[in-house]
Amino acid sequence: MSETKSSLALNGGHAELGRLPAFPSWPQSGPEEERGLVEVLHSGKWGSTHGDVVATFEREFGQAQQARHAVALSNGTLAIAAALRAAGVGVGDEVIVPPYTFIATAAAPLFVGAVPVFADVDATTHLIDPQAVEAAITERTKAVIPVHIAGNVADMTALAEIGRRHGITVIEDSAQAVGAQWEGRGVGTFGDLGTFSFQTSKNMSAGEGGIVTTNDDELAGAVYSLVNVGRVPDGGWYEHAAVGYNLRLTEFQGAILRAQLARLPEQQAVRATNAEALHEQLAGVEGVAVATPDPRVTAHGHHLFIFRIPELGRRGLRDAAVRALTAEGVPGVSTGYVPLHRNTALVAEIRALAERLGQPVPESSCPRADLVSRDTLWLPQHVLLGTAEQVAAVGRAITKVAQAANELA
Ligand SMILES: *Cc1c(COP(=O)(O)O)cnc(C)c1O
Repeated sequence: MSETKSSLALNGGHAELGRLPAFPSWPQSGPEEERGLVEVLHSGKWGSTHGDVVATFEREFGQAQQARHAVALSNGTLAIAAALRAAGVGVGDEVIVPPYTFIATAAAPLFVGAVPVFADVDATTHLIDPQAVEAAITERTKAVIPVHIAGNVADMTALAEIGRRHGITVIEDSAQAVGAQWEGRGVGTFGDLGTFSFQTSKNMSAGEGGIVTTNDDELAGAVYSLVNVGRVPDGGWYEHAAVGYNLRLTEFQGAILRAQLARLPEQQAVRATNAEALHEQLAGVEGVAVATPDPRVTAHGHHLFIFRIPELGRRGLRDAAVRALTAEGVPGVSTGYVPLHRNTALVAEIRALAERLGQPVPESSCPRADLVSRDTLWLPQHVLLGTAEQVAAVGRAITKVAQAANELA
């Protein structure tokens, strides 16, 4: 038998992206962001209490997402906390969340004195499983927070129906799903409230920022009040009808976000084309699992490109796979989340809160989150802004690495 040289770049083979230009960087901006910033600077109206740029952005974002109201605030984490408080969720209530998400989804309930309860995800899509949600409901349940992970959309038909039937508030954590739609309608409009993030990595960014959407006038007023130290829309400066935080965005952020929203459709179209090509390329590759979105997902948010390589997970070779993909020239490869029911800080806080309230500490068995957390890899959204040639090379690199388990061991 002849000796074959490794084809992996890690072991001296040809790097699939070796001769291609660097991927587009993130965040991106142009003359529109620059002009907006300078206009705010020269206007002297730097805060949203005096200017109207944030208010204009709120109207534009609400329109784009097909929500009646949109209230901008400082970040996506406090957007969830504000949505919970606006809906009257508080001390001792239980809030159902998925374990496979960013920590903010489970931290926000704790901020308002509520106990997060984990409901497992679907192993194919990494999205919260409506049946697991239903099974986690107790007489203390006040809200559920489905997360549109990666920009894919949770089953909002089933989840909204569960919310109505049990009288619990549904808050869509749409931090990764700006522009996404379910059956032709924007996410953040199926639940009672939706929340978005404009942190640096997100598909629209102002460095930091967030927004809450709702079709409910009263909830919109309550969020506005929480963002604005308890003020009422069109009320007096020292008229505080409630006790609220100050979570306002600056006009500078508003200006950047108006420009980011305007460039979003074009960027999303590029991401969609590239994601579909990569999906097609990997669909036939043995050992690589890529979820096909539900046909009711009429627009995918394309925040992450998620895939699983089960054999590498079983053999504990995922970190080696990341090194191999990086050596091929694939940027930003991530092993994704440690599931939140395994996060010791969260688990300790949940236990301490439940004990202090004299309530049962919720059970959290999430075997599917455990499974996917061992073999999931993802690429960040800006990889999907590359050229067709770059994305095809990424597909070849993934294929090569997925089939090289024996070389990685
Ligand atoms: C980014 C993110 C958040 C938090 O948003 P920040 O603006 O960073 O506070 C919440 N949930 C999910 C799923 C996220 O990806």
